This record gives sequence, C-alpha cells and structure tokens, in this order.
Amino acid sequence: NAVIPPTHPRYRSLLEREKVVEGAKEGYVALQGLIAQGRGECFDYLIGEETQSFAMKAMEAAAAALLLAKHPVISVNGNVAALTPREVVQLAEAVPALIEVNLFYRTREREEKIAEILRRHGAVKVLGVGEDASCTIPELFSERRRVSCEGIYKADVVLVPLEDGDRTEALRRMGKTVIAIDLNPLSRTAQAASITIVDNVTRAMPKLVEAVKAMKALDRGQLAQILERYDNKKTLADALRHILKRLEQLANSLDPRNA
Ligand code: ATP
Ligand code: MG
Repeated sequence: NAVIPPTHPRYRSLLEREKVVEGAKEGYVALQGLIAQGRGECFDYLIGEETQSFAMKAMEAAAAALLLAKHPVISVNGNVAALTPREVVQLAEAVPALIEVNLFYRTREREEKIAEILRRHGAVKVLGVGEDASCTIPELFSERRRVSCEGIYKADVVLVPLEDGDRTEALRRMGKTVIAIDLNPLSRTAQAASITIVDNVTRAMPKLVEAVKAMKALDRGQLAQILERYDNKKTLADALRHILKRLEQLANSLDPRNA
C-alpha cells in the first residue's frame, strides 16, 4: 500500500484512488473501474474538488424523488462499494430504499464480494446477486441488462451513483426516474438522467443522506413542489458555466500579461 502523507495537497483524492485500486486487487472493481475513477478525478479538478451549489440543488431534488418514490432502489457497482459502502446502507435505511448490486462486467464472484462488503456495513438485504437477477432491461446487451425483479426492474426511482450512459437511457425508456452522481456533466449518463448530481460520489453520498433525513419532515406536497421546480438541463448548464468561469479566473491569475 502506498503511504500518502496527510499533508499532501491532494491527500483525499489519493486515498480514494487507493481504495479503488484495493478493490481491483481484491477482485470486485473491474479494471475499467480504474479508468472511470481517473476520468472522475479529472472533472473533480475542473469543478474545484468541492460540492458546488448546482450539486446541492440536484441533491435536494434527488432527496425529494427518493422520499416520494413507491419503490426506490440504490444500484451499487464495484467503485461505489469501494468508495462509499457505509453511506449506501445509511441512505437505504433513511429513505427507506432497497439495495441492488448491478455490474457492467458481471461475475458471480464480484457480485458476492460486493454484497459481502455491503452486509459488513450493515445491509440486511442485497438484491441482484446470482439467480436473483432474473429480469431483463429491454434493449440492453451487456450483462448489465440482468436485474432483480424485486429491485431495479420494479423500481420507479433508481439512484445510480456512477452509471453508464446506455443503461441510464434504457432505464429512462422504461419510465423510471434516474438519479445519477457523475462528475462529468458532458457524459451521456449526466445528460440522460432525470436528476444529475455533478459531484464526487464520496462527497455527495453523505450529503444526500443528510438531505433525506432533513427533508423527511416535509409533507408530500412540499416534496412534489421541489421536484417540479427542478430542471436538470439548468443544472448541467450551471455546472458547465462554473467550470468555464473557474478556468477563466485561473487563466487570468496565471497570465503575466495581467500583472
Ligand atoms: P457515459 O457512458 O455516461 O457516456 P463514460 O463512458 O465517459 O460515460 P463510464 O466509464 O461509463 O464513463 O462511467 C464513468 C463515469 O463516472 C465518468 O463520467 C466519470 O466522470 C464518473 N466518475 C468516476 N469516478 C467518480 C466519482 N468518484 N464520483 C463521481 N463521478 C465519478
Ligand atoms: Mg460509458
């Protein structure tokens, strides 16, 4: 294990990278998951490695959608299990929602390992493992089309922290509300989701748990209003404008011609 000094300016990011690498070594994070993490790190650099207001707004809408849902499900892959297993379980309890393992590169071993990690963090029931994933999402051709009939198949609202574009689109076509957490506002996932939280999953998940707990006090009418007023296109535009402005400021502060 690499030893990272806590004084390192990117300490947190490096620790998270180590967690995903550890997951790959233990065999439950796919190699492609390492590339996904690297892509996320790049966009985190661009947004400033802090939760921004457009993410907070999306989180509020996400909490409202989860609390209003008849059948909410949290979809978990290897990266999510490596980075934020505790918060997955906390969120599932707070809503309450079901937890389902759903992998792009599905193997029985990987599913079992992820379910085990979630159980170690307090999950009582984990869907989507082995024969439980016997329903099919239409129009999808990866192993990811296999889902639990009691979970994602039946869900009206699905939280997919770190999802792939094709699957987000397929879930939307099935009429589901899809909440994504994705640092890249340009990804197909971000563009296709009903609600996109443009933030690091490690910062967003604990905040989402808090939002759900706080918003439980609201009545259904108030929650519905929050959801109705939310516009995901605006969120994505705000995220892109934030990056634009930030890069402009950084460029100006570096440029000797401005001195
Ligand atoms: P899409 O399939 O949606 O077009 P993609 O093919 O570029 O996107 P994938 O590899 O399918 O990307 O999924 C990885 C996505 O997850 C990337 O968009 C990346 O920015 C995002 N991501 C990776 N790590 C994190 C993280 N820790 N927090 C939030 N988002 C992350
Ligand atoms: Mg993809």
